[in-house]
Amino acid sequence: MKAACFESVGRVDCQQKVDPVISGPRDAIVKVSMAGLCGSDLHPFFGRESGLDRGTVMGHEMVGEIVELGSRFDSGMEIGDRVFAPFSTHCGACFFCGIGLTSRCTEGELFGWVECGIGLEGCQSEYVRVPLADSTLMPVPAGLSDESALLLGDNFSTGYFCAEMAQVEPGGTYLVIGCGAVGLLAILSAIDMGAKQVFAMDPVVERRVIAESLGAIPLDANAAGRDSVLTATLGRGADSVMELVGLPEAQKMAFDCLRPGGIMSVIGCHCTPNFSFSPIQAYDKNITYRSGRCPAGHYMRLLVDRVARSEFDLSPFISHRFGIEEAERAYQVFSTRAEGCLKAVFCFD
Ligand SMILES: [Zn+2]
Ligand SMILES: [Zn+2]
Repeated sequence: MKAACFESVGRVDCQQKVDPVISGPRDAIVKVSMAGLCGSDLHPFFGRESGLDRGTVMGHEMVGEIVELGSRFDSGMEIGDRVFAPFSTHCGACFFCGIGLTSRCTEGELFGWVECGIGLEGCQSEYVRVPLADSTLMPVPAGLSDESALLLGDNFSTGYFCAEMAQVEPGGTYLVIGCGAVGLLAILSAIDMGAKQVFAMDPVVERRVIAESLGAIPLDANAAGRDSVLTATLGRGADSVMELVGLPEAQKMAFDCLRPGGIMSVIGCHCTPNFSFSPIQAYDKNITYRSGRCPAGHYMRLLVDRVARSEFDLSPFISHRFGIEEAERAYQVFSTRAEGCLKAVFCFD
C-alpha cells in the first residue's frame, strides 16, 4: 500500500509499505477514504518532538471502511461499515475510559507514533490497523460527510474540549490565541456555548478573516492586540483564555490577557521545561491552569448527533485536498501555510 512516511526532520514522503494485518482479537483493518494532516503531525516534522522511527506512517485522523475484523471484535459494527476514529485508541473498560478521559486510557496508543519499533502506525495510508477497534471506532451516521467525521475525530472535539475547559458561559468575554483549525473550532464552540464576546488572536491575516466570519473579533498577536482585550474588559482581562499555540510567547500573552480568577485553557503542546509566568504571579492572579490531550473518543460521541443535524457547519475548515502520492508536497504546503492552507487532507479513491 501507499503511505505518507516520516523520513527525517523536514521530510515526509509517499512510500510503499506492507499492508497491515490483524494482530489482536479486537483489531480491525480499515480501508481509509480520508486522512487528515494535523498540527501535531508537524511536531516530529519540525523536530520539536524527537524519537519517531524513520519509515513510520504518519497521521491520526481518519474515515474509512472496515475490511477485516479480529476474532473477538464485538460492537455491532461489521465489515463494510463506514467508520471514524479518535486520534488514539481506547479500551472502553479502564478507570480513565470510565470517567470519559479516553485520552489517558491505560491501554491506549496514539496513531502515527512508532519509537524503537514500538507503537502504532498512522493512518495517512491506504489501510490502517486499529487495535481495540470495538471501542475506538464509531460508525459514521448516514448523511455525515467524510470531512465532518474526520474533524469530529480530532480537531472539532479538541476545540470543543478547549472551550469546555475554559468554562465558557453566556455573557462572558473570551480570548482564543492561535487560529489554526482547532482554534477556529474553539471559537465556533465558545459562541455555541453563549459567549458574548470572543477575541481571536493570530499573526496570520487569512486566519483572522475566517475567525471574524465565525463571529469573533480579530486581533493581531502583539501588544496592541493585548491592549484591545484589556480595554474591552475595563482593564480586567478576559474571563478565560484558550491558548492553542504551544509557545512561550503565547503562554505569556494568555497570562497577560487573563483576568484575576480566570481560567487558562491550554491545548497548545508546550515543549519547553518551564512556564513563562511564575508560581507567585499565578497566585497573585488566582488563575486556574487547565490543559491536556483531548479525550476525543469521548467528545466525538457527545458531538456527533449535533454535527449530523447540521448544528455546526464544519465545511469551511478543510482548505486543501491531496492524493497520497503528493505526500511530500502536502507536508510542504501544510507546514508553511502556503496557498492559504488551513487544514489539509489526503483523499483515497
Ligand atoms: Zn491531531
Ligand atoms: Zn481504557
